[in-house]
Amino acid sequence: MPAHPWLADRTDRFDSSGIRKVFDLAAKMANPINLSIGQPDFPVPDALKEAACRAIREDRNGYSQTQGVSELREALQAQIDAEWKHADRKVLITSGTSGALNLAMWALVNPGDEVIMFDPYFVMYPTLTEMVGGVPVVIDTYPDFKLDLARVEAAITPRTKLILLNSPGNPTGVVASAAEARGLAELANKHGVALLSDEIYRQFTYDAALDSPARWNEQTLVVDGFSKSYGVTGWRIGWIHGPSALIDKMAALQQYTFVCAPHPLQHAALEAFHTDITPLVSSYRERRDRVVGGLRSAGYELADTGGAFYVFPKAPAGYATGGAFVERAIENELLIIPGGIFSRRDTHFRMSYAASIETIDRGMEVLARLIR
Ligand code: PMP
Repeated sequence: MPAHPWLADRTDRFDSSGIRKVFDLAAKMANPINLSIGQPDFPVPDALKEAACRAIREDRNGYSQTQGVSELREALQAQIDAEWKHADRKVLITSGTSGALNLAMWALVNPGDEVIMFDPYFVMYPTLTEMVGGVPVVIDTYPDFKLDLARVEAAITPRTKLILLNSPGNPTGVVASAAEARGLAELANKHGVALLSDEIYRQFTYDAALDSPARWNEQTLVVDGFSKSYGVTGWRIGWIHGPSALIDKMAALQQYTFVCAPHPLQHAALEAFHTDITPLVSSYRERRDRVVGGLRSAGYELADTGGAFYVFPKAPAGYATGGAFVERAIENELLIIPGGIFSRRDTHFRMSYAASIETIDRGMEVLARLIR
């Protein structure tokens, strides 16, 4: 029975109850230790806030050009050209990175096409794939969340259309090595498969700069956004760049869907080019070290993580599933996310360290208690 008779089959199938359950429980808690958050905990830099207010006051409140305001587009294009030096690489400003992912899926995937993704995956990937009639092909990367290129090649069939890579990864925080990024880029090229690299956490790398597969495959579509780097997840400003024939088609699709990214905030986002976030990245590096060190010494099994602001440890022995462990954590006022939301397995949990040191330490105390 559908939830309502009007619902389309593709919509009725989707279930976000797992993550909602966590947030519903959180709403009832007086003083939760919240390590479930997927956005930075620092305040948005004043210069960005001022620029947003200024743009609204200056009446930049109507539609913008579908492809984005020229000032921001040119600034991003110059940055992209300087980094990649590709002959044909064009940028489109989108309604968040999510908007970019939506446009790319609609533009590339035919019904029945297979889309390869790595498990654990960003929550949206399987759903978006199914929304456009595609078939998610999920490659398990447990326990270290590294890419096994032989498994990728074995998963490629005549129906394979697209490979989705997310590095640094949500929920694992794992960063693909240069060899992995290069191998994947070359594999996609060899088999004529599209490659999309979700680099929304590219500025949050703690051990080395990100190696994008676009370095080795000029056709790679890259998505990025201001959401995480500048703490403006509610502004909905992202972008996508790649071959102009693809980007032009996505701009046409944007015209019929999102119309444009929020106009005044596109002007405000220009301020990001004058904002240095390296102190912030350093403070997240310290938190990563604290969390990884603390969890390991408490006895948690944890992959090496080099980016984003998440860790994805295994639930301790004695708990039937990751979900069962998370329930126990929540009974102890600690909010974390069950791994099953990001995975075909339910054995791990995601903990965010986009929180104050005090909150992180309180969370680690609970976790140390639960493993005994
Ligand atoms: N990709 C990944 C891997 C993410 O973690 C997120 C946000 N959680 C997004 C895309 C979407 O970001 P945005 O807010 O820019 O839509």
